[in-house]
Amino acid sequence: MLDRLRQILNRIDGRGYKAYKDLQGEYDFPGFRLYIDYVQGDPFAAPSRIRVRIPQARVRYPREWFEEPHRRIALEDWINRIWSQKTNRYAFNVKGTGKSGLITVDRPGQEILPRTAVVVNERFVEIRITIGLPASGRRVLGRKAEEMLCRDLPRLVDEALPKETLDPTAVEDRMQLVDNQQAIRRILEEKGWIAFVADESLLPRESGVSDRPLQSGKVVKFRAPESLAVTLELPHGNSLRGMAIPEGITLIVGGGYHGKSTLLQALERGVYDHVAGDGREYVITSDTAVKVRAEDGRRVEKVNISPFINNLPFNRDTVRFSTEDASGSTSQATNIIESLEAGASCLLIDEDTSATNFMIRDGRMQKLVAKGKEPITPFIDKVRQLYEERGVSSVLVLGGSGDYFEVADRVIMMDEYLPREVTQEAKAIAHSHRNDRTVEGGITFGEITPRIPLGQGFDPSKGRKEKVDAKGLTTILFGNSAVDLSGLEQLVDLSQTRALADLMRKLGKQADGKKRLTDLIDNLYEEIDRSGLDTISPFRGQHPGDLALPRKLELAAAVNRLRTLRVK
Ligand code: ADP
Ligand code: MG
Repeated sequence: MLDRLRQILNRIDGRGYKAYKDLQGEYDFPGFRLYIDYVQGDPFAAPSRIRVRIPQARVRYPREWFEEPHRRIALEDWINRIWSQKTNRYAFNVKGTGKSGLITVDRPGQEILPRTAVVVNERFVEIRITIGLPASGRRVLGRKAEEMLCRDLPRLVDEALPKETLDPTAVEDRMQLVDNQQAIRRILEEKGWIAFVADESLLPRESGVSDRPLQSGKVVKFRAPESLAVTLELPHGNSLRGMAIPEGITLIVGGGYHGKSTLLQALERGVYDHVAGDGREYVITSDTAVKVRAEDGRRVEKVNISPFINNLPFNRDTVRFSTEDASGSTSQATNIIESLEAGASCLLIDEDTSATNFMIRDGRMQKLVAKGKEPITPFIDKVRQLYEERGVSSVLVLGGSGDYFEVADRVIMMDEYLPREVTQEAKAIAHSHRNDRTVEGGITFGEITPRIPLGQGFDPSKGRKEKVDAKGLTTILFGNSAVDLSGLEQLVDLSQTRALADLMRKLGKQADGKKRLTDLIDNLYEEIDRSGLDTISPFRGQHPGDLALPRKLELAAAVNRLRTLRVK
C-alpha cells in the first residue's frame, strides 16, 4: 500500500537514521510493486537495495523479445542501459549527508552479458536498484524520501519501461544483432573455426584505459584477405563477409605498430557479444578461447607443468609444481596447463606479454646450452602436439621469431592495419632458410593432471566475520588474502569480478577433498543454469543487482590465484 509507505515516512521524519529500517517490506503502487529489501544502517553505509516489479500486463513486451535466452539477455541488458542512463541524469535533487539521494543500477560496458540487474520473464519485469535514503546528519529526511520513492520512482517507471516508451526499431535492431551473433557462434562450432572477424570491423580502442572504439585520426577498418574470406548467411536474410580463422596454429606477424596486438585483443574479447557501434560486434571468437601470458610473481599450487618444464635445479618437482613466486616462463607454463585443465580449446598468445625463453630456443642457444641443462621445453616444440593430440588450437602474435613458420598452419601478416595471408611465403622461407633447430618436444605433449582442491584452502573469515568481495576489476578480497586477477585479460566487468568472489566462496564450501576443480565449477554453473545467477549471492532476501556472469575459465583462473589454495 502506497499510503502505508507515506505514513511510515511521515512518522519517522526527523528521527534517527535507524528508523528507516521500518521501511523494509513490500508496497503496491499503481502499476507496479516496490520491494524494499534492505535498508542501510547509516547514511554512509553501503546503500539500500530496492526492487521495482512491473507486470507484463503493463509493459506489454512481445514474447519473441524474451522467449529465447540470448534475446532475453539482450533485452535485460537493453533495459539496464536505459535505466543506467535515466538514473544518471535523474539527479534527485537531494542535498543531504553521505549517500543521500543516490539512485543507481548496474552499469554495463561494451559487452552484452547475463546480469542480475534486470529480470524479464513472462510475468513481470524487475529492476534492481541501489538507493541512498536521504538524511540530514543522522536524521531521517522523510519528505525527501517520499519524493524519491513516491513521486520520482513511479515517474521513472512510466518513462522508461512500457513497450510504448521504447524505440521499437532500436529494440528490433538489437534483437537482430544478437540473433546474428548467436548464429555466427553456431557456425564457428559447426565449421570448427576459432574466430570470425567481419569486414568493416573497427578493432582499435580509444586508449589503454577505454574500451570504446578509436575515433580520432585515421582508423583503418578491417578487411579480410581473399584467401581467408568467407561469406556467412545470417538469420535475417543478410550476409556478412569476413575472415575466418580455422582451427590449428595461426601466426599473426608483421612489423611493430602494424596492428598485431590490436587484432589479438579483439579476438580475446570476441568471446563476449558486443553492443552495436562498438566496432567489434561481428568479431566472434570461440567462447573457450583463453588469453595466456607470463605472470611472474604469481603463486602456483601443485600444477603438473612437466610438459613444459623438467629437471629444475635441485631436483624440484615439476609434476606437482608449487611456488610462491613463479618466474616468467614457469608462470606462463602454469597458465597454459591450468587453462587446459579448465577446458580451453584455443590459446591466444602475444609475444608482448610472453616470456621469450618460454616461446623459443634457437639453434645456436641449443648448441651452447645442452638440452640436459635447460629445464624449459619451449612452446614452439609443443604447439603442434597440443593441436594434434588434444585438439587445442593456438593463435600467436609473433614479430620476432620466424622459427614458428615451420609449425604454423597459416600465417597472417598485419600490414598497416590490414591483414594479408603470407602462409606460402613463410613456408617457402622456412624451406630455403633452414634454421638448424633440434626439435625438443619429445613424443607426446604429456599429461594434464586434474586437481582436487581442499576445503581448508578457502577461508573467507576476516576477524569474526566473513568477508569476500571485489575490490576493483582485478582484485578479490577473500578473507585475509587478496587475489590478484590482473593477469586475466578476458575479465572485463567489475560485476563479473563480484560474481567471481561469490562463486569462489561457494566453491570453497563445496570443496570436500574429493571433487575435482572442474567438477566443482561445472556444478556451480549447472546451479546457475537451473536457478539463475541470483543464487550465487550469499545475501538471502536481498537482491544481488550487481552481478554479471563470468566464464568458467575465469573462475578456474581466479581459484588458481588464491594464495591459500590447497590441492590434494
Ligand atoms: P603491434 O602489436 O603490431 O606492435 P598494435 O596492435 O599495438 O601494434 O597497434 C599499434 C597502434 O596502432 C595502437 O595505438 C593501435 O591503437 C593503433 N591501431 C591498431 N589498429 C588500428 C587500425 N585498424 N586503425 C588505426 N589505428 C590502429
Ligand atoms: Mg604488439
